[in-house]
Amino acid sequence: MVARKHHIIQASTLFGDIPSTDIAPCDDPLEMIERSGLVGLGGGGFPTAKKLAYGKGCDVVIANAAECEPLLEHNIARLETDSATILSGLTIVKRIIGARRAIVAIKQKHVAAIQALRHTLADADGVTIDSQIEIAFLKDRYPAGDERAIIRDVLGTLLPPDAIPSAAGAVVMNVESLMRVNRAVIHRQACTTKDITVAGHIEGSGFDNTTSLVIYDVPVGKTVREVLDALGVHVSADQQIIIGGPYMGSLGTLDSVIGATCGGIIIGDSELADSGAMGIIVCACGASEERLRAIAKAKGAELVGIRLCKNACRLANGRLKCRNPGICPGQAQNVIALKKEGAQSILISHCTDCSNTVMQIAPRLGLRVHHATDAFMRAGGEPLIRAFRATNR
Ligand code: SF4
Repeated sequence: MVARKHHIIQASTLFGDIPSTDIAPCDDPLEMIERSGLVGLGGGGFPTAKKLAYGKGCDVVIANAAECEPLLEHNIARLETDSATILSGLTIVKRIIGARRAIVAIKQKHVAAIQALRHTLADADGVTIDSQIEIAFLKDRYPAGDERAIIRDVLGTLLPPDAIPSAAGAVVMNVESLMRVNRAVIHRQACTTKDITVAGHIEGSGFDNTTSLVIYDVPVGKTVREVLDALGVHVSADQQIIIGGPYMGSLGTLDSVIGATCGGIIIGDSELADSGAMGIIVCACGASEERLRAIAKAKGAELVGIRLCKNACRLANGRLKCRNPGICPGQAQNVIALKKEGAQSILISHCTDCSNTVMQIAPRLGLRVHHATDAFMRAGGEPLIRAFRATNR
């Protein structure tokens, strides 16, 4: 896939001056991060100060610049415009945990961001920014932000599904979180705003759907309606709103609120009708079973079977986790079973690798294939998440 276009807008140009909240100074950077209220902004929402306290003694800190979902662009945009701030945040985190190495993990297609990183590293003074920071390249797959997948691809260690990164001697931090570490420790700023991407049907904004609008520093607590009104974007009754990315996001409304872990507002098409018998395959990396059921219902389909991706396992806390994120274990068994149960179509939310595997067999069995992201990828002018789609527009 090629990198997507984005256009950056400062939230202050939409909402007027946004005052920052200062935090009381202190000599301990970890305490400053705690006082800022920073949580994992990549979606995890775990308090950053606690994560770093647990991570003390780890050998490596990895900046996750994967931009984990299609259509989202705000992390890459920040790397292009604020690479020094992000690398300063990475240097601060490296020192807090006492790591030997710091690595930025990024897909090669993000050429401008990589250039900005290299340029900043070439000028690094070794104090504010560690000049030894490395860059590692990730495969171009979606979704891509799972911490265990980043560790596997960068360090070569595949952790078990219930393990945390410290088991591999690593701390993984989203790039926006690193930027806000810098703001907390160097500029004493509390974390009260969030970068987001607005994409899909953005007619009215002056841009077409092939551009993602990146809004820097949206005050937490603004509603989707306030953001879209300020952009001039209108949502019609037959369109869907997803909060987050097309894979892992949840269905929202104009009254949904921008929270600290909100990555995007994507305005999608309505679901295309497919009223036959349908089977669904639930995976650990995509839409929940509940969202898949809602999509099947919106299509007018009759649900005849539910399967679980072979790689997905349920942890003790009930959450699904992938044994080997983004690497397909083979889906033929699931597809054949659903066909036997009477399915005429299947609805999936698989990673790109598994989606392609499904497409190697399902159309040959006469099954129509739908992906949970379809309505949003179509709206955003992007190819659907599967390589072989001759029977499937
Ligand atoms: S192997 Fe299955 S659970 Fe794992 S990332 Fe791919 S679709 Fe998701």
